[in-house]
Amino acid sequence: MIKFLDLQKVNMLHQEAIEARLLNVFRSGWYLLGNEVKIFEQNLQKYIGSRHAIGVANGLDALRLILRAYIELGVMEKGDEIIVPSNTYIASILAISDNGLVPVLVEPDINTYNIDTSKIEAAITAKTKGILIVHLYGRLVFNNDLQLLAQKYNLKVIEDNAQAIGAEYRGVKAGNLGDAAGFSFYPGKNLGALGDAGAITCNDEVLANTIRAIANYGSNQKYVNIYQGLNSRLDEIQAAVLDVKLGYIDQENTRRREIAKRYTEEITNPAIVLPKIPGNELEHVWHLFVIRTAARNTLQQYLSENGIHTLIHYPIPPHKQQAYKNMNDLSFVISEQIHKEVLSLPISPVMTDVEVSTVIDIINNWNDA
Ligand SMILES: *Cc1c(COP(=O)(O)O)cnc(C)c1O
Repeated sequence: MIKFLDLQKVNMLHQEAIEARLLNVFRSGWYLLGNEVKIFEQNLQKYIGSRHAIGVANGLDALRLILRAYIELGVMEKGDEIIVPSNTYIASILAISDNGLVPVLVEPDINTYNIDTSKIEAAITAKTKGILIVHLYGRLVFNNDLQLLAQKYNLKVIEDNAQAIGAEYRGVKAGNLGDAAGFSFYPGKNLGALGDAGAITCNDEVLANTIRAIANYGSNQKYVNIYQGLNSRLDEIQAAVLDVKLGYIDQENTRRREIAKRYTEEITNPAIVLPKIPGNELEHVWHLFVIRTAARNTLQQYLSENGIHTLIHYPIPPHKQQAYKNMNDLSFVISEQIHKEVLSLPISPVMTDVEVSTVIDIINNWNDA
């Protein structure tokens, strides 16, 4: 059986270092807002190249907190619109609506699965205050047009960088391209904790301080509350683990690129549409390797019968979810096609060459007729 993602193996790569750091936290008697979080935040900001990094409880909170801080700072107000890709994971959209902001969905490009930047301008209204770009599947989305558009309409560019830590565009890391970025360290992400964890990066000190306060009960001085905040802190145990694994993220992303390259070169079955490797390979960290085929469910069944575990990212588009009844009548044909046809193949830093070859051979032997 080839697992979709063998998390035990992924974490055992760093067993000694992780166990030592965990034991250290356990014995220290200090579990929140301590040195481990400080060290990880410093290393994360150094890695991303941003002036600030703030550890929080999870990726959804990271995005929620950025938008909430913009509201507290008077940059945005309830009812304002935020542009977001229509095929993203639901969390991107929840972060917007949870703050009383309005998600305005824009279709992706069928070739990159990322927001089609040429379609953004048509979605801008007098109420638009930001664009939440999502580097989906690990492929970075950013270009000059997007930057100019944001300047022209005075929009904040917020990155959902849950899936693309380590990706870079012209020497700038994802997470340092826009005004602020949210990261998820959910165990299955490229940089995964042993539970829930997340972070925010930005270069604006006022924004950073506001986020820090909101995430800590709206307070940056004990028992003095400036905002009606929430409790969203990264704990010391997760920070210690993440700090170890951050040291290996480039190496692990390189291994993902090698696997992606083999899949794209060696899967030759004409029934399969392969993802395209970007012109600069550094723009993709292959959180997921997503193929498309009209007979997706049949292929998934066939692969499962042949011992290959796959997943679907994602089976139902956000605008068709019961949670967003107000959007159920909208139509986003590209997203709907993507959601019907995509299938994610196993990819991870611990997959062996033999396993990759097995996946390739079994897919090439698939006959969907
Ligand atoms: C995982 C993910 C999130 C949410 O992160 P959590 O840590 O699970 O809250 C947000 N956006 C995208 C695109 C994600 O993949």
